[in-house]
Amino acid sequence: MAKYADVIINISHEKVDRPFQYRIPSELQERLEVGACVMVPFGRGNKLCRGYVTEITGICAYDPGKIKEIHSLVIGGVGVEDIQIRLARWIRRSYGGTMIQALKTVLPAKQTVKRIEHKKVRLAVTREEGISLLGQCQRKKQTARARLLQELLQEEELPYELVTGKLMVSPAVIRGLEAAGAVHVEVLQSFRNPVKRQVQEEAQKSLSPEQQEAVTQVMTDYDSGNPGTYLLQGITGSGKTEVYLRLAQEMVSRGRQVIMLIPEIALTYQTLMRFYRRFGDRVSVLNSTLSAGEKYDQCERAKCGEIDVIIGPRSALFVPFPKVGLILMDEEHEASYKSESTPKYHARETARYLASLHGASVVLGSATPSMEAAYQAEKGVYRRLLLTKRLTGGSLPRVYTVDLREELKQGNRSIFSRKLQELLADRLQRRQQSMLFINRRGFAGFISCRACGHVMKCPHCDVSLSEHKGGRLVCHYCGYETPAVHLCPACGSKYISGFRAGTQQIEERLRAMFPDMRILRMDADTTRTKDSYEQILSAFAAGEADVLVGTQMIVKGHDFPNVTLVGVLAADLSLSVGDYRAGERTFQLLTQAAGRAGRGSEPGEVVIQTYQPEHYAITYAAAQDYDGFYQEEILYRELMGYPPVSHMLAVQIYAASQEEGSRLAGQLAEQAGSYADQEKPLNQRMMIVGPAPAGIGKVNDIYRFVFYVKDRSYEELIRVKDGLEAWMGEQQRGRVSLQFDFDPMNTL
Ligand code: ADP
Ligand code: ZN
Ligand code: ZN
Repeated sequence: MAKYADVIINISHEKVDRPFQYRIPSELQERLEVGACVMVPFGRGNKLCRGYVTEITGICAYDPGKIKEIHSLVIGGVGVEDIQIRLARWIRRSYGGTMIQALKTVLPAKQTVKRIEHKKVRLAVTREEGISLLGQCQRKKQTARARLLQELLQEEELPYELVTGKLMVSPAVIRGLEAAGAVHVEVLQSFRNPVKRQVQEEAQKSLSPEQQEAVTQVMTDYDSGNPGTYLLQGITGSGKTEVYLRLAQEMVSRGRQVIMLIPEIALTYQTLMRFYRRFGDRVSVLNSTLSAGEKYDQCERAKCGEIDVIIGPRSALFVPFPKVGLILMDEEHEASYKSESTPKYHARETARYLASLHGASVVLGSATPSMEAAYQAEKGVYRRLLLTKRLTGGSLPRVYTVDLREELKQGNRSIFSRKLQELLADRLQRRQQSMLFINRRGFAGFISCRACGHVMKCPHCDVSLSEHKGGRLVCHYCGYETPAVHLCPACGSKYISGFRAGTQQIEERLRAMFPDMRILRMDADTTRTKDSYEQILSAFAAGEADVLVGTQMIVKGHDFPNVTLVGVLAADLSLSVGDYRAGERTFQLLTQAAGRAGRGSEPGEVVIQTYQPEHYAITYAAAQDYDGFYQEEILYRELMGYPPVSHMLAVQIYAASQEEGSRLAGQLAEQAGSYADQEKPLNQRMMIVGPAPAGIGKVNDIYRFVFYVKDRSYEELIRVKDGLEAWMGEQQRGRVSLQFDFDPMNTL
């Protein structure tokens, strides 16, 4: 007989992160369910608090005489689905943090907003008039107006948010067109009675044999009650999105819902429009520009069955669909799929767990799969689907690897190699576009030799050492330190130093070299405002510049058919960051960068400048050989005990006092070490690496320390986390906090 309920009190305080047991009053016994929202008396004063039921049980864990009773059931509150509570519980267990944090991650922020009014933009003139207006706008270079008209000529009506959001057309431009009588903005009361779409369904493409095989396999498995996780591997233009669309249609026709995850930066309006054309108002987009109220509204729509497909970043996983059939994850290798705040969950694993609750399939797509996904596919845990042909035509670009050590020997001290200078001049003359890209991440304080390419590395961890104030070189994994070097230990050259060229310097040098060149720059500085990212990209797409200079942000998303040259200025920057994923990231970035060249009819060329031309991440990227790269990289991971072969838990200690933080980090590391199974042979036993000051050692006067626990078994690492959490609880440390990061994406 279910008489007791565990209730999480929904107030954000760490100390209430445990369920409290309450008696269920008899009138609620039939009605109360897991996930229900209840009011309960709490604390000494029995103040009424709101809480969520996380468990219903027949066993009383306390003195039955003293247990309090649930006051009432909140009706019309946010009825949390059982699945979401289970998901939150799983996230907490797998990634650490409190149950409240897990619930906050999973549940839409409660908002008592009235339904938001929804607006649509439609064409108010005939097609012919629209076309002639479009011509006028294009001649006058009114690009925003032209963009909107172009889409409306295809679509007749578009959701207002889509126009102002992804289409980058400002409300002022819409008002201008409305005043001119060209468009009309219509206000809908709610989405419950969507205006019938007068849009023609996009003509169904017939799938290529490879695409058809992929769709058939996923659907046959699903229909026979054997849904799986699939790795859909294929280069850009091989038809992955078309496969996603078809699979989504199949699922929707079976009455199922579909979650499509896309890294926000890669969600272009072209992709969005493809979904919109297939699913109309039944598709919805979540993104960071939505207010909490709008997000909540989307979730309510999802719950009551008004939408079938949601597109969004990792948090789209938590849209409360009643019966998910498919979770799609495009660009599955992207680091943004890992949450950077506690709980530091990874969308890939979380998607798999969510899918298991729904009996859904998961399709992971990428041109350069993560080591994790490729490893699971190799082991047969994921089923591999291959798309080998480029459907868009266009040949693969020609790649030149330039050895910067040679350039130095020949007396070229510029940041542009002679080959790159020559090709840039050529493109300028032929009026074709180029992209120059520097793969800089956060800080890359590594030291390398410009004469021989030697990189200073940690002898224990095989990752690059980072330069700290005063010139000390430090390993961010184990804390190994060595004094600054002034002569290269490998060749004796004095050209050993950090590499310091930013996007701004590149732009300046380029201007000095080519005074007539029109240059756009995209980096963290030029993309501060909300829309600047898309504005720069659309200006470049519209041919307003000859060269786009930028960080890795420029290699994602948008297609630029007129780009025939891509230059990677220093491939070493990402190769030599002190992180075990450096090789993988470099390979992915170079492959993506190369994929930017020659998307149109003209063939493309790529120049990769590097001090380590023989490094396998560079040679395999230049050869566009994914398998070759994977085979070599997995050996390194295996040898050094890095994920995915082994698992790695980062334990991060944050303290206001350096001394206290350092002492506690030591104690915690020792405590963690005591959990190791002494029976196991040494080479299979849990390993503790560190502690060391974190890469960014001090932020806002809070000192950071970190140590790593490596073990082949993820479960063992969960045991360590639980043990350390309990140990910290006993210590009652007020000014020190602890965070966990499983299989970290970023260890700087
Ligand atoms: P990816 O997502 O792998 O980059 P897309 O699905 O976007 O590839 O396909 C690339 C291009 O090929 C798109 O313009 C798409 O419309 C087109 N395409 C995809 N599948 C087919 C098909 N079966 N027949 C004709 N064109 C296709
Ligand atoms: Zn050297
Ligand atoms: Zn080390």
